[in-house]
Amino acid sequence: MKKLAVVNGKIIDVEKGSILQKNLFIEDGKIVEVSEKEPDNSWEILDASDCYVAPGIFDMHVHLRDPGYEYKEDINTGLRAAVEGGVTRVAAMPNTNPVNDNISVTEYMIEKAEALFLAELYPIAAITMGQKGETLTEMGLLAEAGAVGFSDDGLPVENAEVMRRALEYASLFDKPIIAHEEDKNLSGDGVINEGRISTLMGLPGIPSTAEEAMIARDVLLAGYTGGKLHICHVSTKGSVEIIRWAKKRGIPVTAEAAIHHLTLTEEDLYKAGYNTNFKMNPPLRTEEDIDALYKGLADGTIDAIVTDHAPHSKSDKEVEFDKAPFGIIGLQTLLPLSLRLWKENILTLPELFKKLAYNPARILNIPGGSIKVGEPAYITVFNMEKYTFTEGMILSKSKNSPFIGWKLEGKKKFIIVKDKVL
Ligand SMILES: [Zn+2]
Repeated sequence: MKKLAVVNGKIIDVEKGSILQKNLFIEDGKIVEVSEKEPDNSWEILDASDCYVAPGIFDMHVHLRDPGYEYKEDINTGLRAAVEGGVTRVAAMPNTNPVNDNISVTEYMIEKAEALFLAELYPIAAITMGQKGETLTEMGLLAEAGAVGFSDDGLPVENAEVMRRALEYASLFDKPIIAHEEDKNLSGDGVINEGRISTLMGLPGIPSTAEEAMIARDVLLAGYTGGKLHICHVSTKGSVEIIRWAKKRGIPVTAEAAIHHLTLTEEDLYKAGYNTNFKMNPPLRTEEDIDALYKGLADGTIDAIVTDHAPHSKSDKEVEFDKAPFGIIGLQTLLPLSLRLWKENILTLPELFKKLAYNPARILNIPGGSIKVGEPAYITVFNMEKYTFTEGMILSKSKNSPFIGWKLEGKKKFIIVKDKVL
């Protein structure tokens, strides 16, 4: 029997909303005690002096590029970056090659991740075959094989009738539809937020309505069908308002924001020049949008904070701005950038880890996410060390981060993934 005792740390209790100076006891991957008791010599002691002991970060929106695009990232390098960033679990999007629309891909991802003994991987399977937006996948078989939800992320489900059927079908297996919300007719060939900056830079814009119109449609469909809808990477003020309205009406909707949308605006993109590491979809928005996202986090409209970790190689990204692919990496900067929300009094530490750990597990309907007796042990132990984030620190195969050179605060000391200490 493996017995771990995490001692001298400050434990973040997300359910009670408090921070406790206590010791944490784990046996065979399960939390068995949280108390002031000192462990005897039958326990392996892990010292967490000057550290916070938090529920393990669960990043429910990552792209690991494996199978098919291993030159950008693979399951091994992606999960190593996760561990280094203090992330104990990730949910991986299906836009691989082949697409995760059949159980052979789902099983491949799970088996490869399990053999590595790193962070845990939970596959999200596609809503439609080949993410083409036409024919629904075999959701029952995929759920049985281990898919925790369904998404065509990277692309919207354009046909409302297909989305309606997807919500109905996924609800039979109690899985969420995880929606990339974008009206492609409105976003067109846009590459950054439409507004003052797109005019200044002479780049085609993506209007905020491209996201909002699709969210409005999908919350109505969720309300009509009763199917669970989770909305990816919310980036605009209007989106927050629509989701708040939907939640008030009792529609089964949850939402996430990507950490870069909570950190950067289009002004930062402008200052950085035509740097493709500031190009993502949805695009960086305005100060007003960030303020609305903060309010949405604080009042519970936005349930989760994610990375949307999207590795792209140097050769992919080092092209003209409008030709570069969308997306940036984020697994190793999620923790310190999220801690800024605490430092800036937008969320308390327990509230923050509700968004980083507890709620993602609830949304995907899987155990863990709280430091409580009987729960599986997913733990992130971190301190408030200050450091400069350098390209040399990046364990991902791709280095496409706008945060290189940033002075950050908050670093993982170790994580616990059931009975593994990493
Ligand atoms: Zn997306």
